Amino acid sequence: MSDCLFCAIVRGDIPADVVLRTDRVMAFRDITPQAPVHVLVIPVDHHPDVPSAALADPVLGAELLQAAAQVAVAEGVADTGYRLVANTGSHGGQTVHHAHLHVLGGRGLTWPPG
Ligand code: 5GP
Ligand code: ZN
Repeated sequence: MSDCLFCAIVRGDIPADVVLRTDRVMAFRDITPQAPVHVLVIPVDHHPDVPSAALADPVLGAELLQAAAQVAVAEGVADTGYRLVANTGSHGGQTVHHAHLHVLGGRGLTWPPG
């Protein structure tokens, strides 16, 4: 989608600190990190949110989770633990409407969310 921020990152039109890339998924650091590790995992193709991506392409849903697990290992938080977040829709607090998983770790995270 031409007016989508994360599609622009996929195309390379907007720079990002990329930590993982395949032909189907990519991961890059969040521009406003909320934890010492804060990486976004996205599908290369545009889907509006993670559940929609998984419904449209179940293998892609699994690939997003696998990429998140790989990021957690690469970022050194797999053993200490981390949180995967898929903010979805207005009440979910989603601000970028291209599917993305947040990988958050590197400190103890509070629960419940606000
Ligand atoms: P959401 O609020 O939709 O769950 O998450 C969107 C995330 O994208 C936010 O955490 C925000 O900081 C991040 N973000 C917004 N614009 C950019 C950008 O231009 N580059 C990167 N790397 N992250 C961004
Ligand atoms: Zn997009």
